[in-house]
Amino acid sequence: IIEVTNLRKSFGALEVLKNVSLRVAPSEVVAVIGPSGSGKSTMLRSLAHLEVVNGGSIVIGGQDLVRDGVYPSGAKVREITSRMGMVFQHFNLFPHLTVRGNLELAPKLVKQLSAAEIARRASELLEKVGLQDKGESYPSNLSGGQKQRVAIARALMMSPEILLFDEPTSALDPELTGEVLQVMRQLAKERMTMVVVTHEMGFAREVADRVMFMADGEFIESGTPEQLFGSPQHERTQLFLNRVL
Ligand code: ATP
Ligand code: MG
Repeated sequence: IIEVTNLRKSFGALEVLKNVSLRVAPSEVVAVIGPSGSGKSTMLRSLAHLEVVNGGSIVIGGQDLVRDGVYPSGAKVREITSRMGMVFQHFNLFPHLTVRGNLELAPKLVKQLSAAEIARRASELLEKVGLQDKGESYPSNLSGGQKQRVAIARALMMSPEILLFDEPTSALDPELTGEVLQVMRQLAKERMTMVVVTHEMGFAREVADRVMFMADGEFIESGTPEQLFGSPQHERTQLFLNRVL
């Protein structure tokens, strides 16, 4: 459902993505790990079209988001990116909107569903993430774990086929990571396609179908959690895992 080929991205003279290729099958959960600054967020942001790449191709469900560095029309790009939801490290909730307001904003702008339909879906998703009683709260009155669960529910409002997560638990106190990981585990069980940049090696090991190690703007090694954590082949992967495990 995701096919990335030879993706390249530079910021000025800094080459951040060198030659990134990645394939994700429907319902697959891929964890991306790697040192700080290796390009993980840039890769994920490129998938969501939050970065414009300099070369390479991204195909989402058979549609070209970018082919050999060339993007289609804005309308086409929006159509393709609407198939994906993204969850960020710092939640990125709108502080002036209630939880319900945060969930309902994008669907109301798109106007494909009636207000009643949207409200019903919001209630459903709040219940799914265990926040049915927080709809009228403002983000500032929620814990980090609750905020992140709101962000996940918000991403689900548009019925995405793919969810992209960028270190969804790394801004949380350790005791709050569990509730967020639990929601992600549930989504994986429901066979949501997910790409998760994470430093939660426990989560990667337990939930991911495949783990990919990125360093210096390239994927160095990929495999099942057993392969990558149990018998990493590449020296850089070994050095990284020795530091974080
Ligand atoms: P971390 O684990 O710390 O989140 P990362 O693997 O997600 O790191 P990126 O955020 O993708 O790394 O950054 C890769 C490199 O690109 C870094 O050197 C970073 O400073 C640089 N970079 C990222 N965004 C920009 C930008 N908008 N302008 C200039 N340089 C950037
Ligand atoms: Mg990052």
